[in-house]
Amino acid sequence: MKQPKLFKMLSRGAFKKCPACGQGKLFTKFFDLADDCPRCGLHFERIEGHWMGAIGLNTILAFAVLLVVVAGGLIVTNASGGWKPIGVAVVTAVVVPVLLSPTCRTLWTAIDIGMRPLREDEVDWSKVE
Ligand SMILES: [Zn+2]
Repeated sequence: MKQPKLFKMLSRGAFKKCPACGQGKLFTKFFDLADDCPRCGLHFERIEGHWMGAIGLNTILAFAVLLVVVAGGLIVTNASGGWKPIGVAVVTAVVVPVLLSPTCRTLWTAIDIGMRPLREDEVDWSKVE
């Protein structure tokens, strides 16, 4: 079987599913991603340093959310909100990356597969479908 199309893998990754086969429940705890997909056997850490991409993706998405929050705070308070908008921005900067972390790991794996297609031996397609 061929690997799924990029959009399908991205949507699976965005919902914390295996990009290759769509298997869910890959996390045993909030941050604990299984080493391999229980269905297709994809090893999520495809190369050494794989998770650096997930960290980079997390940083980009967290800054995008922070930009929206700061811009929204400036607009809503007419740039004179005192410390409250700053407090909201600080909480956003701390909480959002933590909340995005699991999603960024599966999403990054999907992006990585999009850039470096699956090798024949990476996935057991006989267990998919
Ligand atoms: Zn899988």
